[in-house]
Parts: sequence; structure tokens; C-alpha cells
Amino acid sequence: MGLSNLRGVPDWQRRAGPATIIDGKAIAARLRQEVGREVATFTAAGGRPPGLATVLVGDDPASAVYVAAKHRACEEVGIRSFAHRLGADAPSGEVEALIDRLNADPAVSGILCQLPVPPHLDGVALTGRIAAGKDVDGLTVASAGALALGRAGLRPCTPAGVMRLLEEVGVELCGTNALVVGRSNLFGKPMGQLLLAADATVTIAHRRSKDLPLLCRRADVLIVAVGRPGLVQGSWVKPGATVLDVGINRTSDGLCGDVDFAAAAAIAGAITPVPGGVGPLTIAMLMRNTLEAARERQGSERPAVLTAE
Ligand code: NAP
Repeated sequence: MGLSNLRGVPDWQRRAGPATIIDGKAIAARLRQEVGREVATFTAAGGRPPGLATVLVGDDPASAVYVAAKHRACEEVGIRSFAHRLGADAPSGEVEALIDRLNADPAVSGILCQLPVPPHLDGVALTGRIAAGKDVDGLTVASAGALALGRAGLRPCTPAGVMRLLEEVGVELCGTNALVVGRSNLFGKPMGQLLLAADATVTIAHRRSKDLPLLCRRADVLIVAVGRPGLVQGSWVKPGATVLDVGINRTSDGLCGDVDFAAAAAIAGAITPVPGGVGPLTIAMLMRNTLEAARERQGSERPAVLTAE
């Protein structure tokens, strides 16, 4: 980063490591408190209490753990939650009928269909059935289109969480070189769109990208979401860069990310650990999206105000 680019850049970002470790757990806890206060104000002012409905099909243990964590977060921030669990052999029509009922239920502000669904079901089609205003995961075609076109809408929780982390640590994105490694619909693509909307110069890398180490070395902001432990080596990191590791990998040594944390932390300006980095922001952002959906719905339910000529 040249000297002329350093205006507005915090001190820790100007020098090469050892990196500031970004405490995602603490930032997520603050965000949940913030949402909790806003939920209380919203309902005290007569707003319909926000409600999140989850749809879990089958008995995948990891999915059950994620859904349970989402319900716990709802309880913490004062959002009502409605758990719907269907058998692993539930026919598509049954899941569709449930989503249709939830779309029509005024007590439900947000709907989340936990992925992956069993192989006989089409997760993309089921998610696509969720009404745009209740798509708190931000994954429907309507939400993705709104993001791509820069229109208002609910944004996918993990990329939105990364944006919140970047804001919290004071990273100036305008004009910066940002690299996203991974191009999934769930993370990489919306992440790229959010960075672009914040005026970063964005590159999205994937399996077919040539010379990934070089692309990484050019990145002031390096965001990795691949699902391969230690893919990004310390020597690939630009001195002083901000590194956000989205990967979650279960190994015999426990959870780890996609970045060689120890080596990268010696060079980066700031870095997220795994666990305790990006992960906790996802559920906190889901809470924020559910509140936003409730606010938006309340606004659209209000009768139009007639003004005297
Ligand atoms: P995904 O759908 O499997 O996508 C992985 C992406 O990584 C693909 O675009 C793939 O490229 C790319 N990739 C794979 N190997 C690569 C390599 N050697 N070099 C460059 N790119 C490579 O995964 P995802 O859903 O985005 O998730 C990625 C990781 O993030 C996983 O570990 C997941 O658990 C984690 N995650 C965490 C959270 C959270 O913290 N809450 C949320 C979402 C995801 P191609 O497209 O060319 O195949």
C-alpha cells in the first residue's frame, strides 16, 4: 500500500504483522445487544413482534445444531421463533405447503430453510419459494437480483457479517484491492457484490483461477471461503493486509479455517481466527435481517397516508 493510499487507514493496518486478532465473538455479542435494544423499541412503539420461522427437513446433526443456535439467539434478542421439523422423507409438496403457510402467516417476519436438504428435495427451489420480504437468508433470486442491481433488500448473513467486521475494524474499502477466494452463491458472489457496492476493486477467485498466490499477494483485503484447511499460506499474504477467514473445517485437531493462521498472523495487519472470527456474525446478522424484515412489513401494512391538497 503506497503512502498516498494511507489516508484514513488505521495504524494497525499500515504496518505488517503481528496482526490484530479480530474478535468476532465480541463484535457479534455487541450486534445482538444492539438488535435486542432495537427489537424492544420497535415493539414498544406498537410494532408487531418480529418472528423467525425455521424449516428443518431430515436429521442432519450439524443442521440441527445450527438451527438450535438460531433459536437461542432469537430468545436472547427478544425475537419470537417457530421451529418446524419435517421427516427426512418429507415429500417436496409438504415442504412447499409449509413454506406457503409461513409466507402467509403475519406472525412470521422471516423464514429460513436450513440447507442442505435431503437429496430428493431441491434446496434452491424451496428457498426460492420464500417470499422476498421474508427471505432473511438473502438467498432467493429476488434478493440476489436486488443486491446485484444495488436495490434495497435483505442481504445474505455471512457476507453481511464480513462487511460488519470490516466496518468495526475501520478498514477503508474505497479503492482498495479486495480478493474473495470462492464463488459460491451462498458466500463468494454476494460478498463480491457487497465489496463492489462499497467501491472496492474486487477480484473473485475460484478453482480455475491462475496463480492464486499472486492474486492473494496483491490483496489489501483478503477474504477466503473455500473449505480447504490451510489453503492460503502465510507467504501469500500481503504485509499489513486484512485477512478474513470464512472457512470452517473439522479436522482431528478441531475446527480450523482456510488460512494458515499462525503464519498469516505474523504478516497481516488484522486477521480473523477460526473459530471466533466470521462465524458468530452470521447468526447475529440473521437477527438483524429478521428485525429489518419486520420493520419493512410493518411499513407496508400501514395504510397509505392521505395528505390534504
Ligand atoms: P462451496 O459452495 O463449496 O464453494 C467453495 C468455493 O471454493 C468454490 O467457488 C470453489 O471453486 C472454490 N475453491 C475450491 N477449491 C479451491 C482452490 N483450491 N482454489 C481456489 N478456489 C477453490 O462453499 P461455501 O458454501 O462458499 O463455503 C466455503 C467455506 O466457508 C466452507 O468451509 C464453509 O463451511 C464456510 N462457510 C462459513 C460460514 C459461516 O462462517 N457462517 C458461512 C458459509 C460458509 P469452483 O467454483 O471453481 O468449484
